Amino acid sequence: MSARPAQDIDAANIVGHFIDGCDVADSNRPEPVTNPATGEVTRHVAMASRQTAEEAIAAADAAFPAWRDTPPIKRARIMFRFKQLLEEHADEIVAAITDEHGKVLDDAMGEFIRGVEVVEYACGIPELLKGEHSKNVGPNIDSWAEHQPLGVVAGITPFNFPAMVPMWMYPMAIACGNTFVLKPSEKDPTAPLLCARLLSEAGLPDGVFNLVNGDKEAVDTLLSDERVQAVSFVGSTSVAEYIYTTGTANGKRVQALGGAKNHAVVMPDADIDNAVSALMGAAYGSCGERCMAISVAVCVGDETADTVVSKFQERIAELKVGNGTDTGNDMGPLVTKAHYDKVRSYVDLGVEEGADLVIDGRELIVPDHEDGFFLGPCLFDRVTRDMRIYNEEIFGPVLCVVRTKSEEEAMRLIDEHEYGNGTCIFTRDGEAARYFADRIKVGMVGINVPLPVPVAYQSFGGWKRSLFGDLYAYGPDSVRFYTRRKTITQRWPSGGVREKAQYTFPSNQ
Ligand code: NAD
Repeated sequence: MSARPAQDIDAANIVGHFIDGCDVADSNRPEPVTNPATGEVTRHVAMASRQTAEEAIAAADAAFPAWRDTPPIKRARIMFRFKQLLEEHADEIVAAITDEHGKVLDDAMGEFIRGVEVVEYACGIPELLKGEHSKNVGPNIDSWAEHQPLGVVAGITPFNFPAMVPMWMYPMAIACGNTFVLKPSEKDPTAPLLCARLLSEAGLPDGVFNLVNGDKEAVDTLLSDERVQAVSFVGSTSVAEYIYTTGTANGKRVQALGGAKNHAVVMPDADIDNAVSALMGAAYGSCGERCMAISVAVCVGDETADTVVSKFQERIAELKVGNGTDTGNDMGPLVTKAHYDKVRSYVDLGVEEGADLVIDGRELIVPDHEDGFFLGPCLFDRVTRDMRIYNEEIFGPVLCVVRTKSEEEAMRLIDEHEYGNGTCIFTRDGEAARYFADRIKVGMVGINVPLPVPVAYQSFGGWKRSLFGDLYAYGPDSVRFYTRRKTITQRWPSGGVREKAQYTFPSNQ
């Protein structure tokens, strides 16, 4: 799977860019894109040079003045048409996700629908952009605040939701009157490109949305170019921190969402059968490659832990792993060979660290897919807080069971973890659940809900090192992030009356 020399690669099979309303072919530094279920290199993707990224920024910059002045209702109509086109092309986009990411088709459809819901939210932009008006703030003086777009904004997105996470950003950014440059993940570039073409087909003027494929070179261009006013990022914490510090040092508004280690607390009074069902999907769905995946089950009391572990053993035996295109499967492969090696090495490490590997997925072989990046579900019991498998994000189908004596101890564990993206509690005790939700130092909390991913009209974001910046993704926060407030105070003096200079600070005294 090593990169082939550019001249040996079929240029027609290199995914390029989308700039100023057109597909842009490019064969610069092509990187392989694999089908993770077969291990086969299916296409390549171009890595934009600095110059190509600058062309995308220039197109967005040129499109901004007219787009900024386009009435919000007209922007909303384009979003309506985009939503319809997305629905018409859903199967094609979902197939591209499964082909390059590996997740099963139903799961890919789930991510796609959640992305389209943000487009639906963006259709309400005329209502969302309404400002605040105050009449007679002084004698015959009115004042109002309005939300003005920023200009060119950029989005940099991860591999694990190639359609949805970009849609967390660009529908709202564009609807607010900005122009956009997206740098999606190089691991699964096709789905975002298909969406880009549909935006154009929906009537979006050329240059309002641009997409460059690439790596650090393209990202650094977006971070340093002074025409880019704001950057939204979703990915790993180390890169999120880099994007935040570099972008803000360059005077940009930045929101950078990072990694996670999400804990589920199982209380002794929980409906354990249902809790384990819920946790199966949350831990092993999408092969654990979700920033809201549950990777730690904190069981309160040994009896709870013993029951949870034995029920997991039963359920995991029923879980079907295989090609995501086969609708009978529950879990597909990991995204790349490099990621497979990394996740597998964490399983080796957990054994070395002394955790009890109750289910070992390392030997799984999927018939006819021997070169695919399949790792079976893994379950560790008796994981302790000093272990690296507890502290670090693994981002694979590996669930760690940690045993605590009380809810307080479970909460202390979560609060002291460096990440604070999502968490949940399983209990029948309303008081315990309310206390947990109120006090826990995590951004998104579920009560008997394993994946509390906020809907499009709420906002998504974690605490601690899971988010750098102040505003969350999509929902109401996205209007605040993608606009700047302007407050205008107005008075129309009556003609002919000579007014005296006033040297005191204006007040209603
Ligand atoms: P990643 O950080 O490797 O890559 C994310 C993006 O940054 C990609 O577009 C990539 O090309 C770019 N990038 C990578 N290295 C870079 C560098 N050195 N300089 C500049 N740009 C760089 O993340 P990933 O592996 O694609 O995605 C998985 C990670 O994303 C996990 O940590 C997961 O928790 C996180 N994630 C977080 C959320 C959230 O909402 N908090 C959502 C989805 C994924």
